[in-house]
Amino acid sequence: MNFPLITAIQKYSLHDGRGIRTTIFFKGCPLACVWCHNPETQKFTKQLLFQSELCTGCRSCIKACPSSAITINDDRAKTNDLKCNKCGVCTEYCLMNVREIAGRYYSIDELIEIIERDKIFYEQSNGGVTLSGGEVFSQDIKYLEELLSKLSDKGYSINIDTSGYFQFSIIRRLLRYIDTFLYDIKVMDKDLHKRYTGVDNYLILENLKLLSAEGASIWIRIPVIGGVNDNLANMEQTAKFLLEENIAVQEINLLPYHNTGLGKYNRLQREHVGMDFTIPETNKLEQFLEIFKQYGFEHIKIGG
Ligand code: SF4
Ligand code: SF4
Repeated sequence: MNFPLITAIQKYSLHDGRGIRTTIFFKGCPLACVWCHNPETQKFTKQLLFQSELCTGCRSCIKACPSSAITINDDRAKTNDLKCNKCGVCTEYCLMNVREIAGRYYSIDELIEIIERDKIFYEQSNGGVTLSGGEVFSQDIKYLEELLSKLSDKGYSINIDTSGYFQFSIIRRLLRYIDTFLYDIKVMDKDLHKRYTGVDNYLILENLKLLSAEGASIWIRIPVIGGVNDNLANMEQTAKFLLEENIAVQEINLLPYHNTGLGKYNRLQREHVGMDFTIPETNKLEQFLEIFKQYGFEHIKIGG
C-alpha cells in the first residue's frame, strides 16, 4: 500500500457538505485547471513553497541544507529544484517562516486520530469527513478502501469531493462507504474543457451517469469562472444534461471564482496563466440559479 501525500487537513469546514466537517486535501490530480485555487494539490510529489518577497537573505537555510540546493541571488534565497529533495530541513531553520513543504504522508491511524478529535462537532451538526484534493480517486485504492472502511465503521458521514475523472470499475467497491459525492461539472463544451483543464469531459459525464444509476447521493458543484463558463448557454447545457440523463441531483452549488489562490502560484514559483479570469457578478449568478430552477431543480445555492 502506498501512502498518499496530503497537503492540508482543514477543520471546522462548513462548505464541503452538510454540517461541520474535517476536509482532507490529497495531493495529485489528473486535471490541471488553470483557475485552480489550490495549485499545490495538482502534482503528486512534494513541492517547496517559498515566499521570496519576505526572505531577508539571512543564509540560515543555506547552512542547514544537506543537499547544497540553496544559493543567494539578489539578497534572496534561490533553490535549485533539481538538487532539492524536499527533505524540509530548511523550513525548520528559516526564522522568517517563508519556506514550506507541500505534501506529507499520514498513516491511516494517524489520520483517523486527527479526525476523531472533532467527533463532537460532527455529531452536533450532522457533519463528518470530506476527502478532497487534488483527486481523491487518483490515490492508492487500498489505502482509500481501508480509510473509508474504518471511518464508516466508526459511523462517520463521508463525502468525496471529486473531479469525476477516474476509472469507475476501480472505485465501485468504495461506493458503499460514501455518503455524498460533491461532483464537479466545469464546462460542458468538451474543447473548452480540454483547453482549461487538460482533459475533455467525456469520462467525467459518463461517470456521473454511472454514479447516479448506482443510487449515489450527488451534489453538483459548478465553479463559475468569468470568461470561461459564465454564460447562459453553458448553464442551460448543464441543466439540460442533468435533466435528460436523469441524474439524481440532491443539490447544485454555483461556486464563483475567487483569486485568493494567486499567492500560491508565486510561492510555487509558477506563472498563473489565468490572471485575466473575472469574478462573476451576483446578478449573473442569480440568472444561472434561475435557469436550474426552470429545469426543475430545487436545491440550488450560490456558494458551497
Ligand atoms: S527542502 Fe531540503 S534539500 Fe530542499 S532546499 Fe530545503 S533543506 Fe535543501
Ligand atoms: S532562512 Fe529564510 S529568510 Fe533566511 S535566506 Fe533562507 S529563506 Fe531567506
